[in-house]
Amino acid sequence: MSINIARNNKKRIVIVGGGFGGLQLANKLKGSDYQVVLVDKNNYHQFLPLIYQVATAGMEPSSIAFPFRNVYKNRKKNFYFRMAEARAIVPEHNLLQTSIGKIEYDYLVFAAGTTSNFFGNKHFEEVAMPMKSISEAMGLRNALLANFERAITCTTEEEKRELLNIVIVGGGATGIEIAGALSEMKRYVVPKDYPELNWEDVHIYLVEANDKLLHTMSDSASKAAYNSLEKMGVKIILGQRVADYTNREVVFENGDTIPTRSFIWTSGVTAVRIGNFNTELIGHGGRIMVDEHNRVKGLNNVFAIGDQCIQTEDAYPNGHPQLAQVAIQQATLLAANFKRLSKGKDLRPFHYKNLGSMATVGRNSAVVDLPKLHFSGWVAWLTWLVVHLRSILGIRNKIFVLLNWIWNYITYDSSIRLIVYARKAQEIKDRELRESQTHLGEDVLT
Ligand SMILES: Cc1cc2nc3c(=O)[nH]c(=O)nc-3n(C[C@H](O)[C@H](O)[C@H](O)COP(=O)(O)OP(=O)(O)OC[C@H]3O[C@@H](n4cnc5c(N)ncnc54)[C@H](O)[C@@H]3O)c2cc1C
Repeated sequence: MSINIARNNKKRIVIVGGGFGGLQLANKLKGSDYQVVLVDKNNYHQFLPLIYQVATAGMEPSSIAFPFRNVYKNRKKNFYFRMAEARAIVPEHNLLQTSIGKIEYDYLVFAAGTTSNFFGNKHFEEVAMPMKSISEAMGLRNALLANFERAITCTTEEEKRELLNIVIVGGGATGIEIAGALSEMKRYVVPKDYPELNWEDVHIYLVEANDKLLHTMSDSASKAAYNSLEKMGVKIILGQRVADYTNREVVFENGDTIPTRSFIWTSGVTAVRIGNFNTELIGHGGRIMVDEHNRVKGLNNVFAIGDQCIQTEDAYPNGHPQLAQVAIQQATLLAANFKRLSKGKDLRPFHYKNLGSMATVGRNSAVVDLPKLHFSGWVAWLTWLVVHLRSILGIRNKIFVLLNWIWNYITYDSSIRLIVYARKAQEIKDRELRESQTHLGEDVLT
């Protein structure tokens, strides 16, 4: 079976993943001499930096998602989107195997990002709640709200404690952002929505194996985040590793335990693996090793950008940080290089321009690390708001997010606290996927 796209006289670039990198690449190839096919397992681009606001019922999922067909609606020629999952690559035949069939390429670009890293612990993978996509964030929102509902009617203090304790594993930017948002939810939403509960019984724990929060950022950012979260009542546990989650208890390596039914995992990422990809080409963090042109080592017409690849340069001997800016800058250069290729010109090497990093800790509080300047507090928070608002795709989404923030800021109220399960639809989709996997598993071998 093959994906139904007719070849024309143009060379075809297949992009796997329409995140920050893949979408930028597709956009920058507009008007080029190539036929561009974007393949993504979802039919929308997701703005990951605001996903924690969906998980904490602060924002509608549609405000941070953008359908690919909307992006391409005015580009009838030479641009195609296919909703499919990349499964395997057959480089000797220039073929990519996907969940809906094979596709032939002249150039292939992997931009499939990362997935949660459970460090090989299958049990954590099954029981922990990750927050790496809109669907996971919605699952988390459902679970948190359902636990509050249940806490009102449960009959024992033990069960109530489990329901109202929330444990977040991972003190990076995602961990501190969700800890901050949950502590605001505890302070401002719980008393209004659940007056039968005592909001002070809700305990939020943030656990980090390192001896500081935000260990990839500056010391001043780390300290400022720690102080803000502590003031907001978050219980921060540093230098401790979680060993197990059993009988509704998080168990630490030193034997300490915390009873909870909300075991949230933000402890790291690993690059998305494409089925049969040669393991010799995979480096640290499961990332595909690429040269200075983002070309996969040893594969002349296959490239990788963004979080899924690892590329070194003098200033970044261990690879670039996994940030949106890296993906966007690599995609911009790769698009220019494709245009140069079509004119027979030499490719230009990539050099990352560090624009800084930031994280928000809650209302009026954020930390910003610029190359030569670190600041925190209200000004940092305003900077965070402006930068994120500018980066969201689409005028409609920008307006919705801005209005939502203004509303939340004035009313101390978050927008949508619905518990919605799409059970039947998900079961059917999973069954279809399993069936197609069996079928396509045979297909790629023949
Ligand atoms: C919760 C969270 C918050 C973050 N906050 C920030 C921040 O504030 N600032 C910042 O700079 N960075 C932030 N990051 C990191 C940033 O989002 C990534 O560095 C960036 O998204 C990388 O872009 P990418 O294009 O490589 O991958 P992604 O943006 O992750 O896109 C990957 C795409 O590939 C698709 N895909 C995955 N597997 C397959 C497959 N097998 N087949 C087809 N499609 C597939 C996915 O659906 C997705 O659309 C955050 C990340 C997370 C998870």
